[in-house]
Amino acid sequence: MDDLISALYIVAFSLFIVGLHMLRGPRTAVRGNLVAAVGMAIAVVATLLDDRVGDWPLIAVGLVVGIAVGVPAARNVKMTAMPQMVALFNGVGGGAVALISVVEYKEALEEGGNPPLEQLIPILFAAIIGSISFWGSNIAFLKLQESLKGRVPNTKPINAALALAAVACAVAIAAGSESELLFWLILLFAGALGVLAVLPIGGADMPVVISTLNAFTGLSAAAAGLALDNTALIVGGMLVGASGSILTRQMAEAMNRSIGNVFFGGLGAGGPALPGAEEGGTVRSTSAADVAIQLSYARLVVVVPGYGMAVAQAQRAVADLAAELEKRGIEVLYGIHPVAGRMPGHMNVLLAEADVPYDQLKEMDDINGEFARTDVALVIGANDVTNPAARNAPDSPIYGMPILDVDKANSVIVLKRSMNSGFAGIDNPLFYNQKTALLFGDAKASVSEVLTEVQAL
Ligand code: NDP
Repeated sequence: MDDLISALYIVAFSLFIVGLHMLRGPRTAVRGNLVAAVGMAIAVVATLLDDRVGDWPLIAVGLVVGIAVGVPAARNVKMTAMPQMVALFNGVGGGAVALISVVEYKEALEEGGNPPLEQLIPILFAAIIGSISFWGSNIAFLKLQESLKGRVPNTKPINAALALAAVACAVAIAAGSESELLFWLILLFAGALGVLAVLPIGGADMPVVISTLNAFTGLSAAAAGLALDNTALIVGGMLVGASGSILTRQMAEAMNRSIGNVFFGGLGAGGPALPGAEEGGTVRSTSAADVAIQLSYARLVVVVPGYGMAVAQAQRAVADLAAELEKRGIEVLYGIHPVAGRMPGHMNVLLAEADVPYDQLKEMDDINGEFARTDVALVIGANDVTNPAARNAPDSPIYGMPILDVDKANSVIVLKRSMNSGFAGIDNPLFYNQKTALLFGDAKASVSEVLTEVQAL
């Protein structure tokens, strides 16, 4: 039986790795997800075959509850609420790992005392990181859901004290203290650290936080795998930990932030400086008919999609408008910011769904050089990723984040519903720029109106 389980695990890992590889591009991502899911199903079956697994009724209850909650949640979640869902599911992973560590430690105590160090250290590691991940992810969920708003000061000294306290309890246990109370204190201190570390993070830094917590959950699961002597958990956890760490690095680079700066920099949502407004700027609103005329005279139009395009589900209307412009000999490109929307690759996924040719999608570094020769930058529900305050307002919460330089285009048209701010909660001087005109309304309705006007010309 052991050999069969090992063989099934090897099949499962291979499918995880192939699935992950396929997640690299939108064309293969859906199949990649399925491949990895099949791998996970095989890993679960293999684990259940293990003769150390005993409590079948409890396992059945767990499966039923998990399916009853997970399937409808995943089916019904809106694309725009996906990041919250990822944060929540990530938290569940961290919580499960923390609970495993409690059970393992309690069992060891009941069996006569602390387990050997090679088992105890992973248990303690899983307890600390799993608890941070559970509580941090839940706070990230509430922030993404916009249930937690406002500015919370950074509590660096308290966080440092909590980290020290959690590690001190763990060291005491590793040094020989046999105490369930100390173990619960580890969970308590680490959980409080997770809450306080994520609470003050705002601005536009949430993508980095989510991917960091994701990496944490993976690492804690790998540690739990060591404690339980379960290869599937070790390999699966390491894959999540490694890919989460790589994603964190890429997101941090895209935001021009270091991880330390995100977690300890004291940036909060909301911000100073309304540079445009301070200059006494007014905004200029425009009509679909005027936008259509401007577009029809352009040679190069760069579409800059953002979160608002996802909310409005305007991607197909945008692709139709672009096709109509191309029919008239106008070149259309798309400028994709790495953190546009609410999850990595959000815009790529939406535009791929609308069959936008992949070679028209340009990454930030490639498109920024094109704005100088762009006649119209058409900003569709994007805000933070175009905010020039990131370039020139040192006290802005997004200062230093690379942006799409739409203000370098000859003219800028912004589609949004109101003067509301974006995710970072700050004003955008771009809207007060003399080159900019705002077409107010739901992005899908506005794009469709512009398309009708272009067709009528
Ligand atoms: P923003 O959140 O900055 O702005 C979105 C804009 O869309 C708003 O100004 C809003 O204005 C407008 N909008 C919303 N609904 C509609 C609609 N139906 N029709 C037209 N406009 C609409 O989005 P960006 O994509 O520019 O930036 C992403 C932000 O999210 C960054 O700060 C990023 O850090 C953060 N983030 C990104 C994640 C990622 O992984 N990509 C994860 C978590 C956060 P109005 O209400 O007036 O219409």
